[in-house]
Amino acid sequence: MCANKLTMPIPEYLSEILESVRANTAGEVANYIPELKKADPNPLAIAICTVDGRIYSAGDDEVEFTMQSISKPFAYALALQECGADQVFDTVAVEPSGEAFNELSLDGSNRPMNPMINAGAIAINQLINGSDSSVEDRVEKIRKYFSELAGRELMIDRRLTESELVGADRNLSIAHMLRNYGVIDDDAHDAVLSYTLQCAIKITVRDLAVMTATLAAGGVQPITGKKLIDTKVCRLTLSVMASAGMYNEAGQWLSTVGIPAKSGVAGGLIGILPGQLGISTFSPRLNAQGNSVRGVEIFKTLSDDMGLHLMSTEPVAVHAVRTITEKDGVTTIRLQGAMNFSAGENFLHEIQQHQFEGEMVVLDLSRVITLHPMAMRMIKEGLKRIRDAGFKVAIVDPDNVLPNFTFSDGTLCAQLASERDL
Ligand code: GLU
Repeated sequence: MCANKLTMPIPEYLSEILESVRANTAGEVANYIPELKKADPNPLAIAICTVDGRIYSAGDDEVEFTMQSISKPFAYALALQECGADQVFDTVAVEPSGEAFNELSLDGSNRPMNPMINAGAIAINQLINGSDSSVEDRVEKIRKYFSELAGRELMIDRRLTESELVGADRNLSIAHMLRNYGVIDDDAHDAVLSYTLQCAIKITVRDLAVMTATLAAGGVQPITGKKLIDTKVCRLTLSVMASAGMYNEAGQWLSTVGIPAKSGVAGGLIGILPGQLGISTFSPRLNAQGNSVRGVEIFKTLSDDMGLHLMSTEPVAVHAVRTITEKDGVTTIRLQGAMNFSAGENFLHEIQQHQFEGEMVVLDLSRVITLHPMAMRMIKEGLKRIRDAGFKVAIVDPDNVLPNFTFSDGTLCAQLASERDL
Protein backbone atom coordinates (compact mmCIF):
# COMPACT_ATOMS: atom_id res chain seq x y z
CA MET A 1 0.00 0.00 0.00
CA CYS A 2 1.45 3.39 -0.89
CA ALA A 3 0.06 6.64 0.44
CA ASN A 4 1.93 8.65 -2.20
CA LYS A 5 -1.24 8.12 -4.24
CA LEU A 6 -3.26 10.19 -1.76
CA THR A 7 -4.82 13.18 -3.43
CA MET A 8 -4.58 16.65 -1.93
CA PRO A 9 -7.91 18.13 -0.75
CA ILE A 10 -6.80 21.80 -0.87
CA PRO A 11 -7.39 22.30 -4.65
CA GLU A 12 -10.84 20.72 -4.17
CA TYR A 13 -11.57 23.19 -1.38
CA LEU A 14 -10.43 26.07 -3.62
CA SER A 15 -12.70 24.82 -6.43
CA GLU A 16 -15.62 24.66 -3.99
CA ILE A 17 -15.01 28.29 -3.04
CA LEU A 18 -14.96 29.34 -6.69
CA GLU A 19 -18.25 27.52 -7.30
CA SER A 20 -19.81 29.26 -4.29
CA VAL A 21 -19.24 32.69 -5.90
CA ARG A 22 -19.51 31.82 -9.62
CA ALA A 23 -23.17 32.84 -9.90
CA ASN A 24 -22.45 36.34 -8.61
CA THR A 25 -22.26 38.48 -11.75
CA ALA A 26 -22.66 41.82 -9.97
CA GLY A 27 -20.30 44.66 -10.85
CA GLU A 28 -18.81 45.93 -14.10
CA VAL A 29 -15.45 45.50 -15.80
CA ALA A 30 -13.34 48.67 -15.68
CA ASN A 31 -14.56 50.82 -18.54
CA TYR A 32 -12.15 53.76 -18.53
CA ILE A 33 -9.46 51.77 -20.36
CA PRO A 34 -10.86 50.67 -23.77
CA GLU A 35 -8.88 47.39 -23.84
CA LEU A 36 -10.11 46.46 -20.35
CA LYS A 37 -13.69 47.31 -21.31
CA LYS A 38 -13.43 44.62 -24.01
CA ALA A 39 -12.14 42.03 -21.51
CA ASP A 40 -14.06 38.81 -20.91
CA PRO A 41 -15.82 39.38 -17.54
CA ASN A 42 -16.20 35.68 -16.72
CA PRO A 43 -12.80 34.21 -15.79
CA LEU A 44 -12.56 33.13 -12.19
CA ALA A 45 -9.40 31.85 -10.53
CA ILE A 46 -7.66 31.47 -7.22
CA ALA A 47 -4.15 30.46 -6.12
CA ILE A 48 -2.38 30.21 -2.80
CA CYS A 49 1.32 29.72 -2.18
CA THR A 50 2.83 28.76 1.17
CA VAL A 51 6.09 30.23 2.42
CA ASP A 52 7.54 26.74 1.79
CA GLY A 53 6.75 27.18 -1.90
CA ARG A 54 3.79 24.88 -2.35
CA ILE A 55 1.23 26.31 -4.78
CA TYR A 56 -2.43 25.31 -4.99
CA SER A 57 -4.80 26.76 -7.56
CA ALA A 58 -8.21 26.32 -9.15
CA GLY A 59 -10.27 27.78 -11.98
CA ASP A 60 -8.77 29.86 -14.79
CA ASP A 61 -5.34 29.78 -13.21
CA GLU A 62 -3.46 30.05 -16.52
CA VAL A 63 -5.28 33.12 -17.82
CA GLU A 64 -3.00 36.16 -17.94
CA PHE A 65 -4.22 39.60 -16.97
CA THR A 66 -2.50 42.91 -16.25
CA MET A 67 -1.33 43.73 -12.75
CA GLN A 68 -2.58 47.33 -12.76
CA SER A 69 -2.56 48.60 -9.18
CA ILE A 70 -1.31 45.26 -7.85
CA SER A 71 2.04 46.39 -9.25
CA LYS A 72 2.12 49.22 -6.68
CA PRO A 73 3.24 47.29 -3.56
CA PHE A 74 5.96 45.47 -5.50
CA ALA A 75 7.23 48.71 -7.08
CA TYR A 76 7.17 50.24 -3.59
CA ALA A 77 9.31 47.36 -2.30
CA LEU A 78 11.77 47.88 -5.18
CA ALA A 79 12.02 51.63 -4.50
CA LEU A 80 12.64 50.94 -0.80
CA GLN A 81 15.36 48.44 -1.76
CA GLU A 82 17.05 50.89 -4.12
CA CYS A 83 16.70 54.21 -2.30
CA GLY A 84 16.24 53.28 1.36
CA ALA A 85 13.30 54.17 3.59
CA ASP A 86 14.35 57.78 4.30
CA GLN A 87 14.33 58.94 0.69
CA VAL A 88 11.10 57.04 -0.02
CA PHE A 89 9.35 58.55 3.04
CA ASP A 90 10.54 62.03 2.01
CA THR A 91 8.78 61.51 -1.32
CA VAL A 92 5.57 59.64 -0.38
CA ALA A 93 3.77 59.47 2.99
CA VAL A 94 2.19 56.34 4.51
CA GLU A 95 -1.22 57.61 5.61
CA PRO A 96 -4.47 56.06 4.35
CA SER A 97 -6.17 58.65 2.16
CA GLY A 98 -9.74 57.32 2.22
CA GLU A 99 -9.97 58.73 -1.31
CA ALA A 100 -10.43 57.26 -4.76
CA PHE A 101 -7.31 55.73 -6.33
CA ASN A 102 -6.92 58.57 -8.84
CA GLU A 103 -7.52 61.55 -6.52
CA LEU A 104 -5.40 64.67 -7.12
CA SER A 105 -4.25 65.08 -3.54
CA LEU A 106 -1.12 65.75 -1.48
CA ASP A 107 -0.52 65.99 2.28
CA GLY A 108 0.58 69.09 4.26
CA SER A 109 4.20 68.60 3.14
CA ASN A 110 3.20 68.23 -0.51
CA ARG A 111 3.75 64.49 -0.55
CA PRO A 112 1.28 61.99 -2.01
CA MET A 113 -0.61 60.40 0.91
CA ASN A 114 0.55 56.83 0.26
CA PRO A 115 2.12 54.63 -2.45
CA MET A 116 -1.11 52.71 -3.14
CA ILE A 117 -2.97 55.61 -4.76
CA ASN A 118 -1.93 56.77 -8.22
CA ALA A 119 -0.23 59.98 -7.07
CA GLY A 120 2.01 57.97 -4.74
CA ALA A 121 2.57 55.18 -7.24
CA ILE A 122 3.63 57.56 -10.03
CA ALA A 123 6.12 59.20 -7.63
CA ILE A 124 7.43 55.79 -6.48
CA ASN A 125 7.85 54.63 -10.07
CA GLN A 126 10.04 57.71 -10.71
CA LEU A 127 12.41 56.79 -7.86
CA ILE A 128 13.27 53.44 -9.45
CA ASN A 129 16.55 53.28 -11.40
CA GLY A 130 17.36 56.92 -10.53
CA SER A 131 15.46 60.04 -11.55
CA ASP A 132 17.59 60.45 -14.73
CA SER A 133 16.75 56.94 -16.03
CA SER A 134 15.11 56.55 -19.42
CA VAL A 135 11.55 55.22 -19.37
CA GLU A 136 12.59 51.97 -21.09
CA ASP A 137 15.48 51.28 -18.66
CA ARG A 138 13.29 51.96 -15.63
CA VAL A 139 10.46 49.78 -16.88
CA GLU A 140 12.89 47.00 -17.81
CA LYS A 141 14.30 47.12 -14.26
CA ILE A 142 10.78 46.76 -12.87
CA ARG A 143 9.84 43.99 -15.31
CA LYS A 144 12.99 42.03 -14.43
CA TYR A 145 12.43 42.43 -10.69
CA PHE A 146 8.81 41.33 -10.93
CA SER A 147 9.93 38.36 -13.07
CA GLU A 148 12.36 37.29 -10.36
CA LEU A 149 9.59 37.57 -7.78
CA ALA A 150 7.28 35.45 -9.94
CA GLY A 151 10.01 32.98 -10.93
CA ARG A 152 9.35 33.33 -14.65
CA GLU A 153 9.83 35.90 -17.40
CA LEU A 154 6.86 38.31 -17.33
CA MET A 155 5.82 40.37 -20.38
CA ILE A 156 4.21 43.79 -20.82
CA ASP A 157 0.89 44.23 -22.59
CA ARG A 158 1.88 47.14 -24.89
CA ARG A 159 -1.51 47.24 -26.62
CA LEU A 160 -3.26 47.80 -23.33
CA THR A 161 -0.70 50.50 -22.45
CA GLU A 162 -1.44 52.37 -25.69
CA SER A 163 -5.15 52.04 -25.09
CA GLU A 164 -4.81 53.38 -21.53
CA LEU A 165 -2.61 56.29 -22.63
CA VAL A 166 -5.27 57.58 -25.03
CA GLY A 167 -7.49 58.49 -22.06
CA ALA A 168 -4.85 59.09 -19.39
CA ASP A 169 -5.84 62.72 -18.68
CA ARG A 170 -6.41 62.02 -15.02
CA ASN A 171 -3.00 60.43 -14.47
CA LEU A 172 -1.41 63.21 -16.57
CA SER A 173 -3.05 65.80 -14.30
CA ILE A 174 -1.60 63.96 -11.32
CA ALA A 175 1.87 63.91 -12.92
CA HIS A 176 1.69 67.64 -13.65
CA MET A 177 0.65 68.26 -10.06
CA LEU A 178 3.61 66.18 -8.84
CA ARG A 179 6.00 68.12 -11.09
CA ASN A 180 4.55 71.42 -9.99
CA TYR A 181 5.30 70.57 -6.34
CA GLY A 182 8.76 69.19 -7.13
CA VAL A 183 7.85 65.59 -6.21
CA ILE A 184 9.02 64.34 -9.63
CA ASP A 185 11.49 65.84 -12.13
CA ASP A 186 10.58 63.96 -15.25
CA ASP A 187 8.32 65.13 -18.04
CA ALA A 188 4.69 64.37 -17.07
CA HIS A 189 4.06 62.29 -20.22
CA ASP A 190 7.15 60.15 -19.58
CA ALA A 191 6.18 59.67 -15.93
CA VAL A 192 2.71 58.46 -16.91
CA LEU A 193 4.12 56.26 -19.67
CA SER A 194 6.55 54.64 -17.24
CA TYR A 195 3.83 54.05 -14.60
CA THR A 196 1.33 52.76 -17.18
CA LEU A 197 3.84 50.23 -18.53
CA GLN A 198 4.46 49.04 -14.95
CA CYS A 199 0.70 48.51 -14.56
CA ALA A 200 0.54 46.54 -17.83
CA ILE A 201 2.85 43.70 -16.74
CA LYS A 202 0.94 40.46 -17.32
CA ILE A 203 0.60 37.74 -14.70
CA THR A 204 -1.57 34.77 -13.71
CA VAL A 205 -3.00 34.07 -10.25
CA ARG A 206 -0.23 31.52 -9.76
CA ASP A 207 2.46 34.15 -10.46
CA LEU A 208 0.78 36.54 -8.07
CA ALA A 209 0.51 33.90 -5.34
CA VAL A 210 4.27 33.29 -5.55
CA MET A 211 5.10 37.02 -5.60
CA THR A 212 2.81 37.55 -2.65
CA ALA A 213 4.22 34.58 -0.74
CA THR A 214 7.66 36.21 -1.15
CA LEU A 215 6.38 39.17 0.87
CA ALA A 216 4.83 36.72 3.37
CA ALA A 217 8.17 34.91 3.69
CA GLY A 218 10.16 38.03 4.60
CA GLY A 219 11.50 38.44 1.07
CA VAL A 220 12.67 34.91 0.25
CA GLN A 221 11.16 33.77 -3.05
CA PRO A 222 9.69 30.44 -1.91
CA ILE A 223 10.41 28.48 -5.10
CA THR A 224 13.92 29.69 -6.03
CA GLY A 225 14.99 30.35 -2.43
CA LYS A 226 16.52 33.72 -3.49
CA LYS A 227 16.34 36.56 -0.98
CA LEU A 228 14.82 39.34 -3.09
CA ILE A 229 13.40 41.77 -0.51
CA ASP A 230 14.82 42.86 2.85
CA THR A 231 12.74 41.71 5.80
CA LYS A 232 12.17 45.31 6.91
CA VAL A 233 11.05 46.31 3.42
CA CYS A 234 8.51 43.47 3.49
CA ARG A 235 7.17 44.75 6.78
CA LEU A 236 6.85 48.32 5.48
CA THR A 237 5.14 47.15 2.29
CA LEU A 238 2.67 44.94 4.17
CA SER A 239 1.87 47.78 6.57
CA VAL A 240 0.94 50.17 3.77
CA MET A 241 -1.10 47.47 2.08
CA ALA A 242 -2.99 46.87 5.33
CA SER A 243 -3.89 50.53 5.79
CA ALA A 244 -4.35 51.68 2.18
CA GLY A 245 -4.38 48.69 -0.18
CA MET A 246 -8.10 48.59 -0.87
CA TYR A 247 -8.73 52.19 -1.92
CA ASN A 248 -11.65 53.79 -0.09
CA GLU A 249 -12.76 50.35 1.12
CA ALA A 250 -9.52 49.88 3.12
CA GLY A 251 -10.97 50.30 6.62
CA GLN A 252 -13.92 48.02 5.98
CA TRP A 253 -11.56 45.46 4.43
CA LEU A 254 -9.28 45.45 7.45
CA SER A 255 -12.27 44.96 9.76
CA THR A 256 -13.92 42.16 7.81
CA VAL A 257 -11.10 40.29 6.05
CA GLY A 258 -8.21 41.51 8.15
CA ILE A 259 -5.16 40.88 5.98
CA PRO A 260 -2.86 43.19 3.97
CA ALA A 261 -4.20 43.25 0.41
CA LYS A 262 -4.11 45.05 -2.93
CA SER A 263 -6.52 45.05 -5.81
CA GLY A 264 -6.19 46.12 -9.45
CA VAL A 265 -8.76 47.31 -11.97
CA ALA A 266 -8.15 44.32 -14.27
CA GLY A 267 -9.80 42.18 -11.54
CA GLY A 268 -6.83 40.80 -9.64
CA LEU A 269 -6.68 40.79 -5.85
CA ILE A 270 -3.81 39.70 -3.59
CA GLY A 271 -3.73 39.12 0.14
CA ILE A 272 -0.91 38.18 2.46
CA LEU A 273 -0.83 36.28 5.68
CA PRO A 274 2.59 37.24 7.08
CA GLY A 275 4.76 34.21 7.78
CA GLN A 276 2.23 31.83 6.24
CA LEU A 277 0.68 32.40 2.82
CA GLY A 278 0.23 34.47 -0.30
CA ILE A 279 -3.25 34.40 -1.84
CA SER A 280 -4.50 35.75 -5.16
CA THR A 281 -7.80 35.80 -7.03
CA PHE A 282 -8.92 36.95 -10.46
CA SER A 283 -12.42 37.99 -11.49
CA PRO A 284 -12.80 41.15 -13.62
CA ARG A 285 -16.16 42.60 -12.51
CA LEU A 286 -15.57 45.44 -10.02
CA ASN A 287 -17.63 47.07 -7.28
CA ALA A 288 -18.08 50.82 -6.91
CA GLN A 289 -14.76 51.09 -5.04
CA GLY A 290 -12.88 49.42 -7.93
CA ASN A 291 -12.35 46.08 -6.16
CA SER A 292 -13.25 42.72 -7.73
CA VAL A 293 -16.75 41.72 -6.52
CA ARG A 294 -16.15 37.96 -6.48
CA GLY A 295 -12.57 38.45 -5.28
CA VAL A 296 -13.79 40.33 -2.21
CA GLU A 297 -16.40 37.63 -1.59
CA ILE A 298 -13.79 34.86 -1.87
CA PHE A 299 -11.45 36.62 0.54
CA LYS A 300 -14.25 37.05 3.08
CA THR A 301 -14.99 33.31 2.90
CA LEU A 302 -11.32 32.37 3.14
CA SER A 303 -10.78 34.67 6.07
CA ASP A 304 -13.72 33.13 7.98
CA ASP A 305 -13.03 29.51 6.99
CA MET A 306 -9.29 29.58 7.49
CA GLY A 307 -9.23 31.92 10.47
CA LEU A 308 -6.93 34.32 8.64
CA HIS A 309 -7.89 37.63 10.29
CA LEU A 310 -4.65 39.14 11.57
CA MET A 311 -6.33 40.63 14.60
CA SER A 312 -7.62 37.20 15.56
CA THR A 313 -6.25 36.25 18.95
CA GLU A 314 -5.72 32.58 18.15
CA PRO A 315 -2.06 31.53 18.34
CA VAL A 316 -0.25 30.57 15.16
CA ALA A 317 1.49 27.21 14.63
CA VAL A 318 3.91 26.28 11.88
CA HIS A 319 5.47 22.83 12.17
CA ALA A 320 2.34 20.93 13.02
CA VAL A 321 3.71 17.46 12.32
CA ARG A 322 6.09 16.69 15.17
CA THR A 323 7.08 13.17 14.08
CA ILE A 324 5.96 10.26 11.92
CA THR A 325 7.29 6.90 13.17
CA GLU A 326 6.61 3.28 12.32
CA LYS A 327 6.73 0.28 14.68
CA ASP A 328 5.27 -3.23 14.34
CA GLY A 329 3.12 -2.31 11.34
CA VAL A 330 1.69 0.81 13.03
CA THR A 331 2.58 4.30 11.78
CA THR A 332 2.07 7.06 14.34
CA ILE A 333 1.73 10.70 13.26
CA ARG A 334 2.15 13.15 16.15
CA LEU A 335 0.71 16.65 15.77
CA GLN A 336 1.53 19.60 18.00
CA GLY A 337 0.58 23.17 18.83
CA ALA A 338 -2.25 25.37 17.62
CA MET A 339 -3.75 23.86 14.49
CA ASN A 340 -4.79 26.48 11.94
CA PHE A 341 -4.95 26.39 8.12
CA SER A 342 -1.16 26.38 7.71
CA ALA A 343 -0.83 23.57 10.25
CA GLY A 344 -3.51 21.60 8.38
CA GLU A 345 -1.65 22.17 5.12
CA ASN A 346 1.58 20.98 6.76
CA PHE A 347 -0.17 17.77 7.91
CA LEU A 348 -1.67 17.10 4.46
CA HIS A 349 1.65 17.75 2.77
CA GLU A 350 3.57 15.45 5.13
CA ILE A 351 1.13 12.56 4.72
CA GLN A 352 1.18 12.98 0.97
CA GLN A 353 4.98 12.73 0.93
CA HIS A 354 5.20 9.86 3.42
CA GLN A 355 5.64 6.28 2.24
CA PHE A 356 3.18 4.51 4.55
CA GLU A 357 3.75 0.85 5.34
CA GLY A 358 2.08 -1.77 7.53
CA GLU A 359 -1.57 -2.06 8.48
CA MET A 360 -2.51 0.86 10.63
CA VAL A 361 -2.07 4.62 11.01
CA VAL A 362 -2.61 6.37 14.36
CA LEU A 363 -2.95 10.15 14.65
CA ASP A 364 -1.81 11.38 18.04
CA LEU A 365 -3.39 14.70 19.03
CA SER A 366 -2.22 14.70 22.64
CA ARG A 367 0.11 17.69 22.04
CA VAL A 368 -2.43 19.75 20.10
CA ILE A 369 -3.42 22.92 21.97
CA THR A 370 -6.25 24.27 19.78
CA LEU A 371 -7.92 23.00 16.66
CA HIS A 372 -9.46 25.52 14.27
CA PRO A 373 -12.54 24.12 12.41
CA MET A 374 -10.69 24.45 9.09
CA ALA A 375 -7.72 22.44 10.37
CA MET A 376 -10.15 19.87 11.81
CA ARG A 377 -11.73 19.44 8.39
CA MET A 378 -8.31 19.07 6.76
CA ILE A 379 -7.10 16.52 9.31
CA LYS A 380 -10.23 14.41 8.96
CA GLU A 381 -10.03 14.55 5.18
CA GLY A 382 -6.38 13.48 5.25
CA LEU A 383 -7.12 10.59 7.60
CA LYS A 384 -10.06 9.50 5.49
CA ARG A 385 -7.82 9.38 2.43
CA ILE A 386 -5.29 7.25 4.32
CA ARG A 387 -8.15 4.90 5.26
CA ASP A 388 -9.43 4.88 1.66
CA ALA A 389 -5.91 3.88 0.59
CA GLY A 390 -6.39 0.67 2.62
CA PHE A 391 -5.08 1.40 6.14
CA LYS A 392 -6.90 1.10 9.45
CA VAL A 393 -6.94 4.51 11.11
CA ALA A 394 -7.36 5.61 14.73
CA ILE A 395 -7.00 8.77 16.77
CA VAL A 396 -5.44 9.36 20.17
CA ASP A 397 -7.12 12.40 21.67
CA PRO A 398 -6.88 12.40 25.49
CA ASP A 399 -7.97 16.06 25.82
CA ASN A 400 -10.88 15.79 23.39
CA VAL A 401 -9.64 18.53 21.06
CA LEU A 402 -11.52 16.77 18.24
CA PRO A 403 -15.20 17.00 19.16
CA ASN A 404 -16.41 14.23 16.84
CA PHE A 405 -14.90 11.39 14.90
CA THR A 406 -17.22 11.32 11.90
CA PHE A 407 -15.64 11.57 8.45
CA SER A 408 -17.24 13.56 5.60
CA ASP A 409 -18.88 10.35 4.27
CA GLY A 410 -20.57 9.69 7.63
CA THR A 411 -18.24 6.84 8.71
CA LEU A 412 -16.46 6.93 12.05
CA CYS A 413 -12.79 6.93 12.97
CA ALA A 414 -11.72 4.68 15.86
CA GLN A 415 -10.53 6.34 19.06
CA LEU A 416 -7.77 5.02 21.32
CA ALA A 417 -7.31 6.32 24.85
CA SER A 418 -3.52 6.37 24.40
CA GLU A 419 -0.81 5.03 22.09
CA ARG A 420 -0.18 2.29 24.67
CA ASP A 421 -3.62 0.80 23.86
CA LEU A 422 -2.33 -0.52 20.55
N1 GLU B 1 -3.28 51.78 -14.54
C1 GLU B 1 -4.43 52.03 -13.73
C2 GLU B 1 -4.58 53.53 -13.48
O1 GLU B 1 -3.67 54.17 -13.04
C3 GLU B 1 -4.32 51.28 -12.44
C4 GLU B 1 -5.50 51.54 -11.58
C5 GLU B 1 -5.85 50.42 -10.64
O2 GLU B 1 -5.62 49.24 -10.89
O3 GLU B 1 -6.43 50.78 -9.62
O4 GLU B 1 -5.62 54.07 -13.72
